[in-house]
Amino acid sequence: MNFDFKEQTVIVTGGTRGIGRGVAEAFLAAGAQVIATYRSDTSAAQAFQKANENYQDRLHLRQFDVSKHDDVVAFFKDVEENFKQFEILVNNSGIRRDSVVGMMSVEDWDAVIHTNLTGTYHMSKLAVQHLMRHRYGRIVNITSPIGRYGFAGQANYAASKAGQEAFARSLSKEVASRKITVNCVSPGFIDTDFIADLPEDQKKKYLGQVPVKRFGTVAEVARAVLFLADRDSAYINGTVLEITGGL
Ligand code: NDP
Repeated sequence: MNFDFKEQTVIVTGGTRGIGRGVAEAFLAAGAQVIATYRSDTSAAQAFQKANENYQDRLHLRQFDVSKHDDVVAFFKDVEENFKQFEILVNNSGIRRDSVVGMMSVEDWDAVIHTNLTGTYHMSKLAVQHLMRHRYGRIVNITSPIGRYGFAGQANYAASKAGQEAFARSLSKEVASRKITVNCVSPGFIDTDFIADLPEDQKKKYLGQVPVKRFGTVAEVARAVLFLADRDSAYINGTVLEITGGL
């Protein structure tokens, strides 16, 4: 499937590393103007920008924390001033802080919920205000099957991801009449920094659970995001597309 996003502007949070970078690059290749955001890893952001020098006129980086409402308000003010319009928001930024519940610190609970779930709320709230005025839009949240199945040691992460899906389903009903769709892409194990810190034996165990017997690639996740963000996907709304190799 060849996607065409010329004349469209896309915001990808956490768009400078891992899955977000793959999504941003796929949109660039499909002709979009891309605003890729990140929180603190400036060297990864610079490396991403350098690797995409070919697209320098269509690639824009912004640094802020999605969990901070004031940061998000300032970001959207900047977007309104510097870009006429945007059509697509990908809520991709996310973290994990794994621990069993009995040992989980309040800080680790809060950090995960505030980044993954509250960040999605902040970004989506400001985005729909803009998209509703223009009567068109696509929002895609990057969630996880762990939100549905649960996982020992990841209750904070699972709750945040289930919350993002419930949030998307509700928001999709609020904005559908304005030609805005809200969906989720739920990737399984994808080879990024996100799982790089897992011990090798644990990675092997995870691999054993994947029916297609390999981890997924960021390009495979990006393809699903572009599919849902396509203008022709107008009747796909409030749903979750799993990219898991059949977990
Ligand atoms: P990475 O750790 O590779 O990248 C995370 C990105 O999110 C980085 O760009 C990071 O910015 C950004 N980020 C983190 N916290 C904030 C914040 N508070 N404000 C703004 N940006 C922030 O993760 P992945 O690419 O692997 O994961 C991306 C998404 O996919 C996450 O939502 C994750 O839950 C989900 N996912 C990942 C899976 C996997 O196997 N990899 C599986 C299922 C879901 P910076 O670079 O500055 O740190």
